Amino acid sequence: MNKERIIMLSDCQSFYASVEKAANPQYNGKPLAVAGDPARRSGIILAACPLAKQQGVSTAETLKEALAKCPELIVVRPRMQHYIDVSAQITGILRTFSDLVEPYSIDEQFIDITGSISLFGSPQQIAAAIQDQISKETGVYARIGISYSKVTAKMACDLWAKKIKGGLFTLAREQLPELLWPQPIGNLFMVGRRMSAHFHSMGLTTIGHLAQMPLAELKWRMREKFHKNCDIDAELYWRIAGGLDDSPVHPATYEAPPKSVGHQMTLPRDYYTLAEIKTVLLELAELVCRRCRRLAVNGAVVSVGCQGASFEAPTGFSRQSKMSDPTNATSLVYEAAVALFRRHWDGQPVRRVNLSLSELSDENQYQLTLFESRPRYRELERATDNLKNKYGDTIIGRAASFTDSGLIKDRAGKIGGHYK
Ligand SMILES: [Mg+2]
Repeated sequence: MNKERIIMLSDCQSFYASVEKAANPQYNGKPLAVAGDPARRSGIILAACPLAKQQGVSTAETLKEALAKCPELIVVRPRMQHYIDVSAQITGILRTFSDLVEPYSIDEQFIDITGSISLFGSPQQIAAAIQDQISKETGVYARIGISYSKVTAKMACDLWAKKIKGGLFTLAREQLPELLWPQPIGNLFMVGRRMSAHFHSMGLTTIGHLAQMPLAELKWRMREKFHKNCDIDAELYWRIAGGLDDSPVHPATYEAPPKSVGHQMTLPRDYYTLAEIKTVLLELAELVCRRCRRLAVNGAVVSVGCQGASFEAPTGFSRQSKMSDPTNATSLVYEAAVALFRRHWDGQPVRRVNLSLSELSDENQYQLTLFESRPRYRELERATDNLKNKYGDTIIGRAASFTDSGLIKDRAGKIGGHYK
């Protein structure tokens, strides 16, 4: 039998705010928040220190709302590059304990310490040493979930380590029935508020209900509930609930976001109708937005362009437009791209199409004036992204991609897509 792995998830408490407090000792003991634009009261709170949270300040509310609750709140402007640097510094600290360190977000990192046990002590001793080192070098308090897989380490951190004094929690495989399964279904990793409501309506109110149900039964019950085949989603949730995750910790670095994210497709033949071109625009929007979501950035400007097949008689155009709000939602970028195309395309046959998003910003900085359904989009798109990352591009497609003018299915079959 393979040796049980030991995997940790380290999460920094109130990361941006903690970094600012460490950099500005004069703010010690005072409530502090990092906000999108401190000069404008409509700016959004990106992070609040525990003291500010005690006074009711919460992330994603407006500065105006926060100041109403906590008038003495110290508000600082975000310094993203600095936070990225500190995040990399923490990766560096973790690497002194194991070379298997995978940043999961700017303030969360997985570390596989299976091979480090005899060198540095027990998992709990190693976690405590990591906490200590991070605190000494960066002033940030890290909470650490310890377990045997990435998903269980993530849940050990979110459900326990973040809530207890000391900030360390170990969740062993044999403890799942006793500790994880009685938890409400909404506490399961990847289950958002909407999915939680769906499970409740199916009578599945605890994580154990999901874990203990035969997979085949969950598949048909979800199919019945959603009136479509959801076998992949069913299996994903069922695996998480059962703590079945053997995905490795991939050593990688946190990358600074690029200036723009774009993609271009050369078509297998000339396309003559807007209907066909729209299919390609949808695929391009999906590829580009998915990359933006992975980088946690929104784009404000969408650009589209096309070219004909002939080099002697070049045709085509390239145009851009600013959207009303920065976004990484496929449907919104697609709509903007189609509108641009409709306006500027002269009807000449098209051989190449490109689409890009630029003026990128941190996606957590979006304004609250947006329409209500936005978080829903994000939840849905994140779920499909995760499935695609795990199972490949063809697993979920928009219906249009499987018509004649769709290219994704074809490309994924060849080389798994050639976007970088
Ligand atoms: Mg955090």
